[in-house]
Amino acid sequence: MTNIADLYILDLGLVDEFIEENNIKKILLQAPDGLKPLLEKIIRHIKALHPQTKIIISAEPWYGSCMLSINEVKILGVDGIVHVGHNRYPWLYDDIGVPILYMPAYYSGKPSKTLLDRLLKTIEDHDIGMVASIQYIPYMNTLANILKTKGYNVHIGNPSSQLMEKGQILGCEYTAALNMRNKVKAFIVISGGIFHALGLSLILREHKIYGLDPHREEIWNTSTYRDKVLRIRYYKLYQILRRGIRKVAIIVSPLLGQYRSSIIMYLEDLLSKNGIDYQVFSTTMVDNDRISSIDNAFSPDAFVITSCPRLPIDDLSEYHKPVLTPGELVMVVKKNIDKYIFPW
Ligand code: SF4
Repeated sequence: MTNIADLYILDLGLVDEFIEENNIKKILLQAPDGLKPLLEKIIRHIKALHPQTKIIISAEPWYGSCMLSINEVKILGVDGIVHVGHNRYPWLYDDIGVPILYMPAYYSGKPSKTLLDRLLKTIEDHDIGMVASIQYIPYMNTLANILKTKGYNVHIGNPSSQLMEKGQILGCEYTAALNMRNKVKAFIVISGGIFHALGLSLILREHKIYGLDPHREEIWNTSTYRDKVLRIRYYKLYQILRRGIRKVAIIVSPLLGQYRSSIIMYLEDLLSKNGIDYQVFSTTMVDNDRISSIDNAFSPDAFVITSCPRLPIDDLSEYHKPVLTPGELVMVVKKNIDKYIFPW
């Protein structure tokens, strides 16, 4: 069986430079769960070349680089972080107090003939937009070049921030695709699973959005998934409109990139002006147990998650009370639900 660590390209020289330039004595390694097997390579490298540097591995899930915890840095007393698999979160304005090395882990695989044949049979348009999550940017560029040689016009857009790569998207940030929306009618979204493709299909409802998973070599037309998700989301919105909304739990995150003060202030103001009671709750992780605990304490009519707009849609949609994204709360409070607002 292939070791997942062998499928990704890591530049270990970056770790050497980082440790030496910053004289790091205690380092914290972070990676999303799917990429944690890569950490072993980095640990072996640090132990061999920098034996004086103590290593701590964060077992937190690190879905995004938005999840930086000041507490973890302070309590553990680390003097540097290596964050594997993401680049810097574009809206991280605060300083965590220690240097961070954002270390991309690029997927080294190439599109196979089987996948190409399947892709060519699936896509009907000749003008195609292409975006990818960061791991698959080299794969996307290779695929774009292959498609160009076959006569397709491939458009790869610029992201909203210079901290991101050309064509890069996040689960909550799709500017690289939105910048190309008028040039194409179809997008190929390259990432693991359907998560990123689903996000784009919630924004661009008139375009064909194909998800492409390089590991599984699968291609999906996301419209069926999108329609199913929207049916669930609208069911929750109608539930609130029918029953009314008197009390809302605003859930905020104490993690650095996920504490969205302007969104929180906007929602507080919106609820106050509409005579709706609310209480703010802080938690780093949001799951059904946390929602139940808040429900027991406060019994709100609805919850709104301000940390990550994917949590209500991807993880908490089965909770028996509505758990909303900020955009969905705005839709129901303003009683304007025709245009689905995503991500915010
Ligand atoms: S807020 Fe959610 S979707 Fe956006 S980068 Fe963070 S984890 Fe990903």
